[in-house]
Amino acid sequence: MKIFKFGGASVKNAEAVKNVVQILGSFKGEKIGVVVSAMGKTTNLLEKLVDEYVNDRNPLAVIEESKAFHDQILNELFEDKSHVIFARVETLFGALEKRINTEPSSNYAYEYDQLVGYGELLSTTIVSAYINEKSGACEWLDARKLIRTNVTYKEAKIDWDTTHELVNGAVRNVEAHLFMTQGFLGHTNTGHATTLGREGSDFSAAILAHCLEAESVTIWKDVPGVLNADPKWFDNTQKLNHISFKEAIELSYYGATVIHPKTIQPLKNKNIPLFVKSFVKPEESGTVIHEDTSADSLIPSFIFKMKQVLISISPKDFSFMVEENLSEIFEHFASHRVKINLMQNSAISFSVSVDESPQVQKLIAKLRETYNVKYNDGLELVTIRHYDQETLDRVSTDKKILVEQKSRATARLIMKSIS
Ligand code: ASP
Ligand code: MG
Repeated sequence: MKIFKFGGASVKNAEAVKNVVQILGSFKGEKIGVVVSAMGKTTNLLEKLVDEYVNDRNPLAVIEESKAFHDQILNELFEDKSHVIFARVETLFGALEKRINTEPSSNYAYEYDQLVGYGELLSTTIVSAYINEKSGACEWLDARKLIRTNVTYKEAKIDWDTTHELVNGAVRNVEAHLFMTQGFLGHTNTGHATTLGREGSDFSAAILAHCLEAESVTIWKDVPGVLNADPKWFDNTQKLNHISFKEAIELSYYGATVIHPKTIQPLKNKNIPLFVKSFVKPEESGTVIHEDTSADSLIPSFIFKMKQVLISISPKDFSFMVEENLSEIFEHFASHRVKINLMQNSAISFSVSVDESPQVQKLIAKLRETYNVKYNDGLELVTIRHYDQETLDRVSTDKKILVEQKSRATARLIMKSIS
């Protein structure tokens, strides 16, 4: 069995859905489990729906907008307007409307998960119906009966043993060569919907593959594979033809966004290769992520984090930075939910780089009650894996380097533009 994952961009309109069906058609005869995300930007729109709902504004208008978007796709895909899919989609929107007509609880994350998962319910309902219509049987499975999680809504943690049982129990009964389920969604032991965190569908695919001991996972994307840098910040990017699980974990740790960070571990544990391929050019080889580390150092990779704030914290009395200070400082970061991208300490100061956000200003105010705090914003953090002098020079042209950290395989620079 193979597991495929199609993200929002691969099903953003009717033409894209047809392309997905064509790709699946070229795997006829193989058993394939397909994980699909919400269509296009649906999840962002449903996040807006949650805000309108819990703040008692106009959630219905947002539902109408999402309905118009999905209706257009449906109408283009299905000529027969009496097809049962129209009623099914209507039912899903009806259920959403029913929800927003009840009072929200005070638990925002819970309300979020009950609403936002409809994006995936809609996409899988539409795409699987289209496959059934055009190309052959595809069984729709409800991830709210497969993926068991705890109650940490919005960031739910997997209950692996139960999920293993549920997934195998359900898939054993699938007769069709294809089954399709929702990415991103799970459920609690009392049957409430949960979500696995934004962009969590890659992780869903890895969970299924792990539980089913699949032969491989393929993530179909709008890029040719894993590139050595984000083309947004970098010219002449190169595709990494194959990298190891370990390298992929390192890249996502430093902020590379091609694959959701939780995806690799479940695959690595069962030695299941992960392919990243283009849904535009499915015949091309893409990237394979596997056990073999031999190609990891062939091409340097660059990870950029913009809008960084470098905060320097030192005791007001010029005493040393010791464990007690540091643990207190870390507690403030954790309670303000500010994530540290890089840190460095000296005898009398501790410096960290974090993403710019309103929370950071609150954190700085808090720290200033006890420490001298200086900060510098508008910075960029560049991480280079498998660096050399040439790559260091390339990223630091016209930049002033404020912090530089090097280990054997990784260099990290915090820089300011000289303008
Ligand atoms: N639809 C969800 C999101 O946009 C999950 C995913 O796409 O992976 O975050
Ligand atoms: Mg998505």
